[in-house]
Amino acid sequence: MSDADFLIIGGGIAGLSAAARLAAHGRVLVLEAEDATGYHSSGRSVAFSHYGIGGEAVRAMTAWSRAFFQDDPALARTASSLYFADEESRPRLDALGAAMSEFSDSIEPVDAAAIARLCPALRTGAGGAIAGLHDPTGLKLDADALLQRVARDMRAKGGSVLPGRRVASIEATGGGWRVRDETGETHEAPVLVNAAGAWADRIAAMAGVDPIGLAPRRRTIIVVDPPAGAEIAGWPFVHSVAGDFYMLPEAGRLLVSPVDEVEDDPCDAAPEDYDIALAADRLEHYTTVAVTRIAHRWAGLRTFTGDRVPTAGFAADAPGFFWLAGQGGYGLQTAPAMAAAVESLIAGTPWPDGLAQLGVTAATIGPERLRAPACC
Ligand SMILES: Cc1cc2nc3c(=O)[nH]c(=O)nc-3n(C[C@H](O)[C@H](O)[C@H](O)COP(=O)(O)OP(=O)(O)OC[C@H]3O[C@@H](n4cnc5c(N)ncnc54)[C@H](O)[C@@H]3O)c2cc1C
Repeated sequence: MSDADFLIIGGGIAGLSAAARLAAHGRVLVLEAEDATGYHSSGRSVAFSHYGIGGEAVRAMTAWSRAFFQDDPALARTASSLYFADEESRPRLDALGAAMSEFSDSIEPVDAAAIARLCPALRTGAGGAIAGLHDPTGLKLDADALLQRVARDMRAKGGSVLPGRRVASIEATGGGWRVRDETGETHEAPVLVNAAGAWADRIAAMAGVDPIGLAPRRRTIIVVDPPAGAEIAGWPFVHSVAGDFYMLPEAGRLLVSPVDEVEDDPCDAAPEDYDIALAADRLEHYTTVAVTRIAHRWAGLRTFTGDRVPTAGFAADAPGFFWLAGQGGYGLQTAPAMAAAVESLIAGTPWPDGLAQLGVTAATIGPERLRAPACC
C-alpha cells in the first residue's frame, strides 16, 4: 500500500499538469494505466494553441495559458493560423472573427490574394477560399516536451508517477479513497483526482459517483508528402470555417484531418478507412495537393462535456472526489489554466490571477452544471 495526499488517475496532460501544481502542497501519486504517460489523447494531438476553437471559456483559458508556453522555448514556437471561407461558408467568418478578437488583437481579415500568399496550395477564388482570418500569433506546441516538462516539475517537488497501473477498483474509506490497481497494490489518499480522459465517467462509476455524461469523439489524422519543391514550413495551420478540414505542416510533411467527431467508446482509438479516405478527399477538394501516398495515419479521442467546457471541481455527491475531465480538442492549450484552477480548488490557493477577469470562475468549470436535472 502506498499513501499520498493527492492520488491522480491518468497520466495525460491534464493529470500531469495538475500533479505538478499539487506537488507543492503534499505528496502526489499519479497512476497511469499504460506503460508510458501521454499514450492516449495527449500523445495524439496536433498540438496547436489558437483562438479558433471552443467557446468563450476555452478561449479565455487559452489566452491565460499562453505565458506558460512562451516562457519556455522548448514548449512552443510562434506559428500562424488561418481560417478560410468559401462563398457558402462566408457568413460564419464574421462571427468567428468577432469571437476570436475578444481575446486577441492579432486577428486579421484577409482576402483571396492574401490567402494565396500565405498558403499557395489552397484553392482560392470562385469555388475556393474567398476570405479568411489570419492569426500570426498562434503557437505550435511540442506535446512531448510539454508532458516531460510537467512531469519534471512534479518530480522536482517530490511527486511520482506509476505507469502500468490500471485502476481496477475504488472505494470510499470514510476519510478519503482507496484505489486498487491491476497489480493488486492499493493506494490511499484523502483526495482522488479523476483525470482519466475518455475513461473518466467509468472511473466515476467505479467509485460509485454519478457520471457527468462525457462523450468521447474520434478524430483522424493522415500524414502526406507535400508537393515537390514546395516550401511548406511557413504555411499556417489552415482550417475551413465550415469545420470539415484542417491541414498543418510538421517535420516536412502535411498533417491533414477531415475534422471528424465520430462517437466512440473509451479505447485505443484507431483510424477507420472511411475517415482516412475523407481526409484525402477534403485535402484534394480544398487544395491543389495531390495525395500520392499516405505516409502515416492515426486517430485519438477528444472527450467533451455536454457544454464543451472542460470541468474541474469536487463532486457534490462524493467528498474528496475531484473531476478533471472533458478537455475536448483543447486540452493542451488550456492545460496550464486548468492546472492552476485545480490547485486553487484543491489546495485553497487564490484563484489564478487574471482568470476571473477573462470570465472563468470556479462555477464556469465546476461539475455541478453537468449534473442531470432532477426529474419529475
Ligand atoms: C487528433 C487530435 C488533435 C488534437 N489537437 C489538439 C490541439 O491542437 N490543441 C489542443 O490543445 N488539444 C488538442 N487535442 C486534444 C488534446 O489532445 C486532449 O484534450 C488532451 O490530450 C486530453 O488530455 P487528458 O489528460 O484529459 O487525456 P489523456 O491524454 O487521454 O489521458 C488520460 C489518461 O488516463 C489514463 N487512464 C484511463 N483509465 C485509467 C485507469 N483505469 N487507471 C489508470 N489510468 C487510466 C489513460 O491511459 C490516459 O493516459 C487533440 C486531440 C486529438 C485526438
